Amino acid sequence: MGKVYLVGAGPGDPELLTVKAARLLARAEIVFHDSLVSPGVLRLIARDAEVINVGKRCGRKLLTQEEINSLLVAAGKLLTQEEINSLLVAAGTKQEVVIRLKGGDPLIFGRAGEEIEALRNAGVDFEIVPGITAALGAAAAAGISLTDRRAASQIVFSTFSRGAQSTAMDWGAITSTTTLALYMPGPDYAEVAYRLREGGLPGDLPCAIVSNASGPQQQIRRTTVAELAHEEKLPAPALMIVGRVAAQRVQEISKAFWRSDVKGHEAHRPAVS
Ligand code: SAH
Repeated sequence: MGKVYLVGAGPGDPELLTVKAARLLARAEIVFHDSLVSPGVLRLIARDAEVINVGKRCGRKLLTQEEINSLLVAAGKLLTQEEINSLLVAAGTKQEVVIRLKGGDPLIFGRAGEEIEALRNAGVDFEIVPGITAALGAAAAAGISLTDRRAASQIVFSTFSRGAQSTAMDWGAITSTTTLALYMPGPDYAEVAYRLREGGLPGDLPCAIVSNASGPQQQIRRTTVAELAHEEKLPAPALMIVGRVAAQRVQEISKAFWRSDVKGHEAHRPAVS
């Protein structure tokens, strides 16, 4: 019986991997990774390991290793989460070091919960190795102190994209001292701007868009919630940091800057799905 490691690959730069992640990759026998994992990180995987991009689908239910191997070469669509879960369980019962490698941290918007449940149910041993999540990589890239004491007291990691079982953003958690890290903003910035305004955020609230944080293609754009609607799109993956801390000069922003009391505003706001 092997062990499945759910490993965080960090935001891109292989130097940002944990020592443990790098060590495990070097002795991996089979690695299932997402499309988000950077080529630099993939290069650290043991040469004789099987490397499977589960961001690509092979078109049917996969169970045996032979099937995995032959289907590897087939181009395809996305694997369903159920298919990934059964792949992990099947591999975990056979191989010694199985790695499920996910961009950033495996426990942040990484669907690890479903995989953990599948592994637990199947009695497969597993361990989680944290990684640097995109919000932290993006903040480092942009030089944003997420909890700058002059302007922020909490950070909310959130997204509007929760797939089929979409959960609305909890706007009750957003105040004038919240830094919002918005994952998966998607390409429609006007829609994002609209939803942020709808949630009660002021139009002049600073927003930084960070694309490919820590990678060679890294790009940073500073804007505001209102201007966001007209910004040119940055390439995926991109993350937005919204809040007073995203301003170039935090100390010049007063609290009056926050136009409305968000909680009061919320009662009149249409539901966001
Ligand atoms: N588990 C990952 C998040 C997966 S969701 C983590 O902890 O980072 C995918 C989203 O993460 C992307 O849509 C984007 O918003 C963000 N993301 C991942 N890598 C990124 C990067 N290098 N730069 C900017 N955003 C990134």
